[in-house]
Amino acid sequence: MAVSEKELEEIVRSVLASMDAFRPSEQEETGIYDTMEEAIAASVRAQKEIRRMPLEFREKIISNIRKLTLENLQPLAEMGVAETGMGRVGDKIIKHRLVAEKTPGTEDLSTIAWSGDRGLTLVEQGPFGVIGAITPSTNPSETVLCNSIGMVAAGNTVVFNPHPSAIGVSSFAVSLVNKASIMAGGPANIAATVKVPTLETASVMYKSPDIPLLVATGGPGVVTAVLSSGKRAIGAGAGNPPVVVDETADIPHAAEAIINGCTLDNNLPCIAEKEVVAVASIADELIDEMQKNGAYLLRDQDKIAKLAEMAVVPNKSGKMTVSRDWVGRDAYKFLRALGIDADPSIRCIIFEAPEDHILVQTELMMPILGIVRAKNAQEAMEMGVRLEHGNRHSAHMHSKNIDNLTKFGQMIDTAIFVKNGPSYAALGMGGEGFPTFTIASRTGEGLTSARTFTKSRRCVMTDAFCIR
Ligand code: NAD
Repeated sequence: MAVSEKELEEIVRSVLASMDAFRPSEQEETGIYDTMEEAIAASVRAQKEIRRMPLEFREKIISNIRKLTLENLQPLAEMGVAETGMGRVGDKIIKHRLVAEKTPGTEDLSTIAWSGDRGLTLVEQGPFGVIGAITPSTNPSETVLCNSIGMVAAGNTVVFNPHPSAIGVSSFAVSLVNKASIMAGGPANIAATVKVPTLETASVMYKSPDIPLLVATGGPGVVTAVLSSGKRAIGAGAGNPPVVVDETADIPHAAEAIINGCTLDNNLPCIAEKEVVAVASIADELIDEMQKNGAYLLRDQDKIAKLAEMAVVPNKSGKMTVSRDWVGRDAYKFLRALGIDADPSIRCIIFEAPEDHILVQTELMMPILGIVRAKNAQEAMEMGVRLEHGNRHSAHMHSKNIDNLTKFGQMIDTAIFVKNGPSYAALGMGGEGFPTFTIASRTGEGLTSARTFTKSRRCVMTDAFCIR
């Protein structure tokens, strides 16, 4: 049987990788460096190797990333919760499984072709090279793994500057990605990072001539920073997703979907329902049904005010911002801090408030859901648009009125609009489509995948290869 040149190359590569003399050093194996400069240099070397590899080989690496993620669901989830203090182990397992099983790989890349009298032209999706990625504390390892699959599928390597409060779990995810490559006989450092990521190490990344593309997943500060870098940048920024419920909705179903969506990982996902706008005629029924799904209705105005003081606090410059001590914490812990003897089975706190209430206006990322009453569907949709604050990120609606659903979708103009389901249906969990933890709201790419991390390359053959 004849062995092709590519197959031969692959055999040689795996033999070399298995020889001790060619084994990468421990630092290379994990991809974790003392300085950002070293991490970038290592990533440049790895990208040169990845670039020459057949797509099939990239796919082997990706399937190893999937496998290693599935084998490490529990430690990834436990480390994430232990290190950041945020979220829920069970839900983090679900999120990592989703990344492993459903993040698109090389099949996401496509080609456009024109053929005719003057030959054949192809437009192919090629890698940028080394991508600089900034990742959040809220879905730290989920983002590292999901970004890595998409970026490597597209032929890139990636250098991460993870959130300082999630260094451990983010670095662990980076090391899994490298292990996946080495196991397949590929290069080390397809993902790299620094031991201590800071704003300074991020700045080295922004200025490096070796990095043509930046991808930021986080709040407004980091997205503005990458967009000001002078480089091509993809910005996946903040949201404050409203969910509108009109009088035609299936209320028990809406209540269940909203509580399920809002409580996933204690409301950490940026797409999760952050406040409800309900048409007044169905608001009482909706609140009753939410309580049947594990929501605790807080009625005491003093306690609501105290909750607001706990959840939103002034930062160093006096600006009101979410309290890091409470982001992603369990609902019952808030209630106990308010002097209410709550059971850990309570999934979220609901309360009624006017539209301008700070707990409704702020992207809390806590299992706290304000409910605002509107006179009718039109008013509810207008409030929903205002509460989204022009982030153009995510919005949701429960209704059986197709005119209202269409109208709100047009008015709110968000990257994600889920109708009659939990917010996570947008990530392919109980809805069609693929998941991602980088939703490019600000720069418009929407849900990112391998194809997002490519540049368009036109390849033209004149006067040949048309066989029509
Ligand atoms: P964050 O903004 O505090 O941190 C995100 C990353 O940016 C971290 O690595 C941080 O170190 C870095 N960073 C922050 N300010 C920076 C600056 N000025 N320059 C350089 N780097 C900077 O966000 P977080 O609290 O970890 O995550 C929550 C926020 O991220 C929420 O607003 C949420 O909506 C958003 N988010 C968005 C998406 C999305 O896909 N659109 C996904 C996850 C999180």
